[in-house]
Amino acid sequence: MSTSDPTLSPPFEASEPFAKRMDAEDGLAGFRDRFLIPATDAGSPVIYLAGNSLGLQPKSVQQYLNEELDDWATHGVEGHFRGRRPWYSYHEMFRESGARLVGAEPGEVVMMNSLTVNLHLMMATFYRPTADRYKIVIEDGAFPSDTYAVKSQLRWHGHDPADGLILLQPRPGEHTLRTDDVIDLIDEQGHEIALVIPAGVNFRTGQFFDIASITAAAKKQGCTVGWDLAHAVGNVPLSLHEWDVDFAVWCNYKYMNSGPGAIAGCYVHERHGRNFDLPRFAGWWGNDPDERFKMHLLPEFTPREGADGWQISNPPIFSLTPVKASIELFEEATLPKLREKSQRMTGFLRFLLEGHQSKVFEIITPRAPAEHGCQLSILVHDHPKERFAALEKAGVICDFREPNVIRAAPVPLYNSFMDVWRFAQVLADATG
Ligand SMILES: *Cc1c(COP(=O)(O)O)cnc(C)c1O
Repeated sequence: MSTSDPTLSPPFEASEPFAKRMDAEDGLAGFRDRFLIPATDAGSPVIYLAGNSLGLQPKSVQQYLNEELDDWATHGVEGHFRGRRPWYSYHEMFRESGARLVGAEPGEVVMMNSLTVNLHLMMATFYRPTADRYKIVIEDGAFPSDTYAVKSQLRWHGHDPADGLILLQPRPGEHTLRTDDVIDLIDEQGHEIALVIPAGVNFRTGQFFDIASITAAAKKQGCTVGWDLAHAVGNVPLSLHEWDVDFAVWCNYKYMNSGPGAIAGCYVHERHGRNFDLPRFAGWWGNDPDERFKMHLLPEFTPREGADGWQISNPPIFSLTPVKASIELFEEATLPKLREKSQRMTGFLRFLLEGHQSKVFEIITPRAPAEHGCQLSILVHDHPKERFAALEKAGVICDFREPNVIRAAPVPLYNSFMDVWRFAQVLADATG
């Protein structure tokens, strides 16, 4: 971790003019204009800090969707080959840009299905329990869908989750995990662990795990390692290929701004992508595209090399189109610049909250820049519901987790430092 990181000794000031100056000096500020920002009843833009739940709509989405509707109207079935973005190879548009998002090689990433479906498809291939090695590791307090998926996989293979599921837990009195504790657990129990599959960024605490170290420790023990990147993609820097991660899954509707239920992402390390002997659930879109339309003439499945070979159905184009609109913005802004702004914004938010109301707020998201993304999870000790209600009344959209956690995520693509300033003001001022 760099000690020269400005967020560690913040050159921040708790003032509105300072927030305005930060916005004026922000090289990415123009991207805000490329999004549709919901308005309050009074007609002013809301302070939208819920991009960790559902990102805002890029303005380009509507045009791209209209173009697909036009191509369907104009070409009918021929749109598969004659559309301006032919549907037959539509998913290949993300071969390079999708890979760049997660630090993968071209071919290691495909956009398909939804997150939990991809999780199951990946486990169909990569969770291969044996009598001695069948346990699965996730973090305690994982997103419920992941917990359900993993437990159901254990049962599907005849294991009792009470025995087969290992939950990573913080130390008593602590809110987040220590990397050393995770690695110690893996070192001790690794011989029984088939699969390690935590979230890269925990949805509730905002903790960004040390994916490289945890992956390396698990691989040393012979475990397979996958990551759920729902809260990590488009948020924090990732180098999946370099870290030798076996597989990963994510959704594209949070930081990726691709709309409710958008088509999700999936990464498979190229070593596995070339291994045609791996068991998998097959469908025609995972087949070699040159043979796909031979249909019933070739009843044997020939998987396509790479992550593409795990596709099953032909993709819903209208749900894939917003992913294109969104990724273009990430390509333009670039992830390192977004990360740099994100750390300044989240650092500013922490500075404002801690500077004035230290008895009322406890930020449970780790402090070190390398251990968090956009989101801060704020435990509110005093009048949490009243403060949250005041936020809503002031036109802030963020979220509340019972009994007293507010999650706020300033997103570098469309939030401003003034958003952060106003949010902190309302949160501090509300007395219930
Ligand atoms: C958002 C999220 C999900 C949602 O799953 P879907 O299959 O997209 O409905 C699952 N897991 C995690 C960790 C999430 O953050």
